Order: sequence, then structure tokens, then C-alpha cells
Amino acid sequence: MSATDLVAEAAGETAPEPAETPFSLELSQDQKDIRDWVHGFAEGVVRPAAEEWDEREETPWPVIQEAAKIGLYSFESLAQFFVDPTGLQLPIVNEELFWGDAGIGMAIMGTTLAVAAIFGQGTNEQIGEWIPQCFGTEGDPAVAAFCASEPNAGSDVSGIRTTAKYDAAADEWVLNGQKAWATNGGIADVHVVIASVDRELGSRGHAAFVIPKATKGCEQGAKVRKHGLRASHTADVHLDDCRVPGSCLLGGKDRLDERLANVREGRQSKSQAAMQTFEASRPTVGAQAVGIARAAYEYALEYSKEREQFGRKIVENQAIAFTLADMKMEIDAARLLVWRASWMGKQQGMKFENAEGSMSKLKAGEVAVWATERAIQILGGNGYTREYPVERMHRDAKIYTIFEGTSEIQRLVIARAISGMKIT
Ligand SMILES: Cc1cc2nc3c(=O)[nH]c(=O)nc-3n(C[C@H](O)[C@H](O)[C@H](O)COP(=O)(O)OP(=O)(O)OC[C@H]3O[C@@H](n4cnc5c(N)ncnc54)[C@H](O)[C@@H]3O)c2cc1C
Repeated sequence: MSATDLVAEAAGETAPEPAETPFSLELSQDQKDIRDWVHGFAEGVVRPAAEEWDEREETPWPVIQEAAKIGLYSFESLAQFFVDPTGLQLPIVNEELFWGDAGIGMAIMGTTLAVAAIFGQGTNEQIGEWIPQCFGTEGDPAVAAFCASEPNAGSDVSGIRTTAKYDAAADEWVLNGQKAWATNGGIADVHVVIASVDRELGSRGHAAFVIPKATKGCEQGAKVRKHGLRASHTADVHLDDCRVPGSCLLGGKDRLDERLANVREGRQSKSQAAMQTFEASRPTVGAQAVGIARAAYEYALEYSKEREQFGRKIVENQAIAFTLADMKMEIDAARLLVWRASWMGKQQGMKFENAEGSMSKLKAGEVAVWATERAIQILGGNGYTREYPVERMHRDAKIYTIFEGTSEIQRLVIARAISGMKIT
């Protein structure tokens, strides 16, 4: 393109050739339609139920049933969101749903972590068998759980003590251990459990197993009483001589044996089971945080245009207006990082160059905590009460600097990626 063309284009006299500008942030009509559909559900069904289920601290089954009835909570929908070639559909859906309410949003979307593990590590047969069971049916929906964390293995998944031993005579795996913090733990139809098959290999000796519904030896432990996200069930899961068929090892035994042999002989092997799942889900988790932040920002903006002190609307004070300007800018910046990571993930099979997935989750999580805190400030005393939703949004936002890799761990991942150094 010549300099004259550049100037003409800048002046809006010529339209750029589509072939020269393949990158666009303009959403397709399909993406807008799905966004609006989810927004309608978030506004009409999720929001009105948010306070009740936060107070009850229980899984909002009636809302999940509504989501299943309209087809939002289903394998087919998730697959449709997932195959979008731009990678943006899944974050867009998550942002809208969590804009409605994060606790209920997690009750609906918590299943997807187990689904991501099965999809990422299972064989085609396992994907076909187990993923539909994670959702149940339209009339009788189910949820799924992904169990990696343990009391002594949170940020450091290499500390996982749950073991899986192969009983060759019965072609069964026997699992023993205690899982902590599992979203949907104990109430799920399908549990995906990360266990060690060779403790000496640390995290490279991990494998993922499906525990089918009502398997003996897989029981819910203590239910966690939480600061936020209270409509989402979180609990320990106990595995006591829990036997599952050989076919429940995700990826199959041949692939596991080959991987373990590579590790033992010092050859490169693919990254460990839990890490693969977290890497793939980070931009989507970031989108959830963006949804919470946006909800708090919008609420605070409207409030500031209504509330009067000193004879004028509080938004007419620069202190308030500039805070709102910063909130809007930070939320948009977080969304752009989420969209970039989602797009890159799609283009490159969830492999990132500079930990862009981690960057998106880190930024979005920290923006959500900051923006919801600012929203409380803008509402003053009202913001601090349970009569106004920003208090709940602030409690909900905090988890986004903790789960799926804390902010410190994301910084570690980014620092290692950009420096190529062993940073501890
Ligand atoms: C509501 C909720 C839902 C959850 N859902 C699930 C789930 O579905 N499945 C699942 O497997 N897990 C789940 N988790 C667990 C979650 O992933 C862990 O809580 C998280 O990974 C942090 O682990 P930890 O709590 O043991 O903290 P720790 O690892 O003990 O960390 C404590 C602090 O030390 C810091 N720290 C640790 N190591 C380092 C380091 N090397 N450098 C700098 N700082 C460090 C951390 O950043 C953090 O600030 C959930 C947790 C919660 C609260």
C-alpha cells in the first residue's frame, strides 16, 4: 500500500481490502445472536434468582433446569460455542452469564472443567461416552466435577497424593486419596480425578480418571462454606478403594505407558494432566471475571447518575467520574486480553507463546476484584449492604485471584515464559 493510499484510508476515503485486513474485532451476526440470547437468560432468569441462592448456599437446580430446557446447558451448545473458529464464542457466553450472577454462573459452567479434561485427554470413544453424561438430559440435567486439588496440593499439583493402582487381573484401576475444593464434588454424575500412577515421577506421573456415577468408594466429604460464589457447590471428595474399569483412564493405558516410558528414559513428554486442563480454561475463566466486573461497573454508573449529594449527582464529581472512566477502561482491557488469548488458543491448539492465557486470567481476575471494590465505594454505605448486589459481586470476584492458578502462580508462569529462566 502506497503512502497516498494510507492517507486516503486514514481519511476514510477508501475501504481497506478485506484480504489485507483479515483480523477484526467485529463480532459476527451469529456471535451477537448467541450473546444476546445468553444475556436475555442472564437478565431474566439468573439475576432475579441471584440473591436467593447466594443466601441458601445451595446448587440452584431450578435455574440449571431452565438453562437445560432452553438448550443453554447442554453438550450440543457447548460444542457449538467451542467450534467457533475465532475462539470468541465461549468467552462471550461466559461474560454474559456471569454478568447475570457469578455463583449461579459457576453452578451452570462448573461442569465445563471436567468436560475440558475429557475432551483434551480422552479418546474419541471416551469423549462420546462421558461428555453427554456430564450434562445429563434436558429434563434431568446433571453436573460434573474436576478434582485436582488436595489439602496439601493446591498451587503445587506435584504434591498430589491420591494414587491410582492398576489391577491387571480385573482390568480395573483402584483409587485412594482425598480431593479438596472440588466444584460440584460429590453431587456430580461424573467426577474427573487426577491421580498419581507413579509418585517418583511427580506431576509427570499423573493421569486423569473418570469416576462414573454412584461408584462405590467415591463419596462427598465436607462441604465448604465460602466467602463468595455461594450458589456453586464446593466440597471434598474421598476416594477409598474406589474401583473403576480400565476404560476409565482418560487416553487409555497404551498412551499412558508410552508417556511414562518417555519420562523414565528422560525424553520429552507432554505436560501433565491437570496443567493441560487449566491452560485451556484460563481465558474462559478470565471472561467470567470480566462479566462480574462489568456488572458492578454498570450498577455503579447508574447509581452515580441517580444519587445526589451537595445538590448534584455524585457522578458530577470528577473523583467518581474518573473512577468510572478507569473502571470502563480496565474492563475493556481485560476483555481484549481474554479475546486475544481465546483467539490464539483456537489458532494454535491452546498453545501460547508468552503465557497469554495466564495474562488474560490474571488481568481479568485482578480487575474484577478492583472494580467491584470501587463499585462498593461509589455506592457508599449502600454498597456495603446485602440490599445492593455489588457487595455480592465483590465477594464473588475474589475467587478469581485464587482458583485455576492464583495471581502469584500466573505471574510465575508469565515470568518464566518471557524470560526463559527458571524463576522460583
Ligand atoms: C471456590 C473454589 C472452587 C475451587 N474449585 C476447584 C475445582 O473444581 N477443582 C480443583 O481441583 N480445585 C478447585 N479449587 C482449588 C483451587 O484451585 C486452589 O485453591 C488454588 O489452586 C490455590 O491452592 P491453595 O488454596 O492450596 O493455596 P496455596 O497453594 O496454599 O497458596 C497459598 C498462597 O501462597 C501463594 N504461593 C504458593 N506457591 C507460590 C509460589 N511458588 N510463588 C509465589 N506464591 C506462591 C499462593 O499464590 C497463595 O497466595 C477451588 C477453590 C475454591 C476456593
